[in-house]
Amino acid sequence: MASSVRVRFAPSPTGFLHIGGLRTALYNYLFARHHGGTFILRIEDTDQARFVEDAEQDIIRSLEWSGIRIDEGPLHGGNYGPYRQSERKTFYQKAVEKLLAEGNAYYAFDTQEEIEVMRERLKASGNPSPAYDSITRQSMKNSLTLPQEEVERRLAEREPYVIRLKVPRRETIQFEDLIRGVVTFETKGLDDQVLLKSDGLPTYHLANVVDDHEMEITHVIRGEEWLSSAPKHILLYQYLGWKPPQMAHLPLIMSPSGGKLSKRKAEIEGIPVNTRDYIDQEYEPEALVNFLAYLGWSPGDDSEIHSLDELCQLFTLDRVSKGGAVFNHKKLLWYNEHYLREKSDDELYTRVLGLAAEKQIPGFDAEVLKNIIPLLKERVSKADDILEMGGFFFSDPEHYDAEALKKWSDETPDLIRAYKAAIEPLHEAEFSADKLKASLEETVAAQNVGMGKLMMPLRVCVSGQGFGPDLFPSLELLGREKVLHRLDLALSRLSGPGAS
Ligand code: GLU
Repeated sequence: MASSVRVRFAPSPTGFLHIGGLRTALYNYLFARHHGGTFILRIEDTDQARFVEDAEQDIIRSLEWSGIRIDEGPLHGGNYGPYRQSERKTFYQKAVEKLLAEGNAYYAFDTQEEIEVMRERLKASGNPSPAYDSITRQSMKNSLTLPQEEVERRLAEREPYVIRLKVPRRETIQFEDLIRGVVTFETKGLDDQVLLKSDGLPTYHLANVVDDHEMEITHVIRGEEWLSSAPKHILLYQYLGWKPPQMAHLPLIMSPSGGKLSKRKAEIEGIPVNTRDYIDQEYEPEALVNFLAYLGWSPGDDSEIHSLDELCQLFTLDRVSKGGAVFNHKKLLWYNEHYLREKSDDELYTRVLGLAAEKQIPGFDAEVLKNIIPLLKERVSKADDILEMGGFFFSDPEHYDAEALKKWSDETPDLIRAYKAAIEPLHEAEFSADKLKASLEETVAAQNVGMGKLMMPLRVCVSGQGFGPDLFPSLELLGREKVLHRLDLALSRLSGPGAS
């Protein structure tokens, strides 16, 4: 039986699911599963101007890819629907009526221009952040300042209006955040939040509170950027006569160069920002989940690798940190390598075969791919790197890596020729990693040079690259004919007239 814990992930469908959003969803999910509770997806689509058509689909796809299972949601059903705010207008209307009737909200008829004039006037008199608040409301056009007949006339004539929360002048609002402890706000600094917009739709604040109540949400777990909204929400709960859910505000995700990891910063630092980028770039979902779980939380020991199920067992809010968590891309790749190495060769083969079909790899051969998987699995950070790093198994290199060629000296061509002479007599069946290695050792000994003098140039000749899978097994897999051909090719390209 499900416990009474009910949490929600409540994204606004204004774009693709951001990596920070995925972490919020994950923490909610881990918390729900830890307590045997319910994880709800609620789409907060009341901002029509910022609505993006495919966003909801992208959010659901991203959650599913991560292994997060939605218990209740727009496509998943549940007893507390509908799960899109645009379909829940009557709930908000009822709440607004109660607030108006009890004097905790009011009609405001001011135009944008009039509000602008008020702001400019206050700025000019030394107020750096003027707001529509308990003081300024007194000189504006609203149902608190206009005579009642005029308010009724304006409403009857369908003049545009918004409904604002009547924030008390001097009150202290306090609540206990499960991560931050007691949080205190003075209402003095709060504006009279718009609750219902002139298009009749609620703002985030009203809809969020009404739905958390109606959906019997027990814990609100969300990003720190919402902490400053919490006092308005607490006031709304109070005025609506409802018990607020417990709240937990998660630490910000920080950029490695400092400051919040914004979209722009992420781009500059080469960090993919949307979950779909991780899907498209062939990250392992287990790796991203494990990494994100540790971005602001830890189990309190030095363990680092945990499956989603284990994380569900381990996760508690008291181990979530207050301070910002720095996004370390190298750590994510480390996780990715770990989960990649755990995959069976067969599974990886099928996956990379699919990728190869999309990519048109010159000279591609499925049989060759099957053979190189075990060799490359240990070397790459991501599944798609297998095709890139292993491209030389399918076709002759077209270029030789400039960095690696720095080790190419005047003696190199003779060394390569000597090695070629040593391996040429080997029959195809003898062309094994062991024999190829022994030949190299003999060659360098006879020439009285170190191994490195030959290893690196050899690798460059056959693969074009300065790094890659183990050299001798790679030579064995390439086979006698190709290796000899590539040595000749490289010698003619790199040591002939006009070579660098
Ligand atoms: N719709 C808000 C968002 O886009 C939800 C914030 C909350 O969880 O209260 O993040």
